[in-house]
Amino acid sequence: MAPTPRSSRAPRTTHQVAVIGAGIAGMAAATEAARCGLKTALFDDGLLGGLIINVNAIHGHPGAIDTTGADLVNTMLGEALEAGVDYQPGAVSELTAANDHWSLPANSVTARRVILATGADLRTLGVPGEEQLTGRGVSQCAYCDGGLYKGKDVAVVGGGDGAFQEALHLTELCASVTMILRSQKPRARPVFVRQAADLSNMHFRWNTEVQEIIGTDGVDTVRLIDSGGKEETLPIAAIFPFIGLTPKTALTNASKDDAGALIIDSHLQTDQPGLYAIGATRAGYGGQIAHAIADGKVAAQAAWRSI
Ligand SMILES: Cc1cc2nc3c(=O)[nH]c(=O)nc-3n(C[C@H](O)[C@H](O)[C@H](O)COP(=O)(O)OP(=O)(O)OC[C@H]3O[C@@H](n4cnc5c(N)ncnc54)[C@H](O)[C@@H]3O)c2cc1C
Repeated sequence: MAPTPRSSRAPRTTHQVAVIGAGIAGMAAATEAARCGLKTALFDDGLLGGLIINVNAIHGHPGAIDTTGADLVNTMLGEALEAGVDYQPGAVSELTAANDHWSLPANSVTARRVILATGADLRTLGVPGEEQLTGRGVSQCAYCDGGLYKGKDVAVVGGGDGAFQEALHLTELCASVTMILRSQKPRARPVFVRQAADLSNMHFRWNTEVQEIIGTDGVDTVRLIDSGGKEETLPIAAIFPFIGLTPKTALTNASKDDAGALIIDSHLQTDQPGLYAIGATRAGYGGQIAHAIADGKVAAQAAWRSI
């Protein structure tokens, strides 16, 4: 489909596209939009690269063997800048629609189209002790904090790829890693589950939930309960919860699913015309960086064709 000419009544805007969030999805979208000839702004609230930035070994991304998250992010930011993206470090706190354009008032930017790539936060357990001991034994970054617990017993909560990846990394440093899973069937792909099952210092607690994290200056134990009601107190020095994501979608009141992820059409457009949602912000996101990159390209091209 050929791009339709811009309406002569369209308001003057500072940019044609504004991409909010410079994680993998946002950087891919901004680069593609710029390569489509669109004047593109890219914003980031401080955690450039998002969820992948602290991952030391990326799995499942073509050509990324032995690549760290930080390396990939640097490469992608370089590509974005080279394509001509106007990268503006700084959070976007407000997004409003006006006629045929969008306004980011606090950032002094107006754009014909907005691509929301604000990603997601790692969910927390919400149990007693978790908040008080965060940074003192409760961590959501095994690659950053694992070294602090060298030779000690630790636990990882969750059953997805991320949980298994982080647990596998910890087995290289720690005396033992106990994985605590709510069900008997991990969501992680078999490549990770098989690897974990083969390790002598990896232990599992299936059908089990964390009830409390106990300690004063650091984590001493966790209190667990299984689906049959049996309780256990497990002595550990650290616990790493990876139990899923909460999409960051507060900037818009476009339709969301029960998990708070934005509902999109086949062009990744929300129910608000001109507002696209990609990567971990959107319902049905595939979960891997390859999906995030594909989302970025699909939305950028859809935005380009619609202007
Ligand atoms: C532990 C772990 C390991 C993983 N390992 C792999 C792996 O090996 N291979 C793989 O394919 N995938 C992996 N993943 C998944 C992958 O990291 C994610 O799917 C992907 O990074 C999601 O990218 P995103 O851009 O959608 O969101 P995010 O990474 O969440 O990025 C969103 C960005 O938006 C910014 N932002 C948020 N709000 C605002 C705002 N208001 N204004 C401006 N900026 C804002 C954030 O700071 C962030 O930079 C892993 C995930 C985890 C948690």
